[in-house]
Amino acid sequence: MDDWQLILRDSLRTPEEIAERFGLDLEEVRRVNREFKIQITPYYASLIRRKGDPLYKQVVPDVAELAENTGEEDPLDEDLDSPVPSIVHRYPDRVLFLVSHSCASYCRFCTRKRKVGDPMKIHPRYIEDGVNYIKEHREVRDVIISGGDPLILSDEKLESILAQLRAIKHVEILRIGSRVPCFLPQRITEKLVNMLKKYHPLYMNVHFNHPDEITPESSRALNMLADAGIPLGNQTVLLKGVNDDVMTMRRLMQKLLTVRVRPYYIYQADYVKGTDHFRTTVEKGLEIYQGLRGWTSGLAVPQYVIDAPGGGGKIPLIPEYVQSITDEKVVMRNYAGEIFVYPQVKTQKRKRPRTQPPCLRVESPRV
Ligand SMILES: *Cc1c(COP(=O)(O)O)cnc(C)c1O
Ligand code: SF4
Repeated sequence: MDDWQLILRDSLRTPEEIAERFGLDLEEVRRVNREFKIQITPYYASLIRRKGDPLYKQVVPDVAELAENTGEEDPLDEDLDSPVPSIVHRYPDRVLFLVSHSCASYCRFCTRKRKVGDPMKIHPRYIEDGVNYIKEHREVRDVIISGGDPLILSDEKLESILAQLRAIKHVEILRIGSRVPCFLPQRITEKLVNMLKKYHPLYMNVHFNHPDEITPESSRALNMLADAGIPLGNQTVLLKGVNDDVMTMRRLMQKLLTVRVRPYYIYQADYVKGTDHFRTTVEKGLEIYQGLRGWTSGLAVPQYVIDAPGGGGKIPLIPEYVQSITDEKVVMRNYAGEIFVYPQVKTQKRKRPRTQPPCLRVESPRV
């Protein structure tokens, strides 16, 4: 076993261990565990300073997860866009490929908790069908390898998947989505990065939600990935009591840049069953966006998106910077709230198109 596998094996995972470590009611922990697996790596547990802090909230179970009548099992209706069990094909030219059911630790707010942690729902035997689907669909030029967490797979297993995808001519780029650099940075080894860099162009999106998650260990892991030429992006979920204030988010985005990670998305928390205690208002997300744009490096400003219920995909939300547009001028508000005017070019009859121009109209990939 590699060191990282030994660390993973020592994770807190039984209801007894969890209840004892955090002083919780054992019966309650057992009930939550039946709904969604509990696991916390010893490394991430060591970063928790006190009960209820932003790191604690993300991974330690809460009875609020058992609340009835909140959210949906499959809030993004991924299962409707799933032609084979391991693929979600929602957008014209790219697919999500689910290759691993497990994660280093389990986020209590996970959007895919209906599948994640369940080896019957994300199973290795579905991988072959996924690869074949991608082979048969020549429009797929971008594959997002996800799960669960793909970096929980052994180097050999992961390499076999990357090699099969790389052998497909029409697949231009590969992406890995992983929270391992945050939960189990020890898994990022020389051997792993030397393997990954054989499969360029390979991108990675990591998942950090709080500045305290950027530690010497995770910085080392991220720097190794960046040194291997892997462009790194970050996806953050806006979570109540974790990162729902401007200063925390600004610090997180700035710290990510210091370890060469470019903030990519801030997600409004999805409408997931049993996660209402994590959801904030959308106004809060817009306030955070406004607290970033202009106030700090443009590189530190990700897009703020809602992944639309019903399978609409990611929709960007931007505060109202444009006050009015006429044929003469555009009136705008800058980051500090001051008003500026841009004069329009003078043309005869300039109509803004009412519908999408034909070049952008695409057939839905729904099968
Ligand atoms: C998020 C997502 C993608 C990737 O979206 P990008 O905006 O290209 O990063 C692809 N497929 C599905 C189903 C997704 O949810
Ligand atoms: S790491 Fe990702 S897939 Fe795994 S529990 Fe967290 S959000 Fe869900």
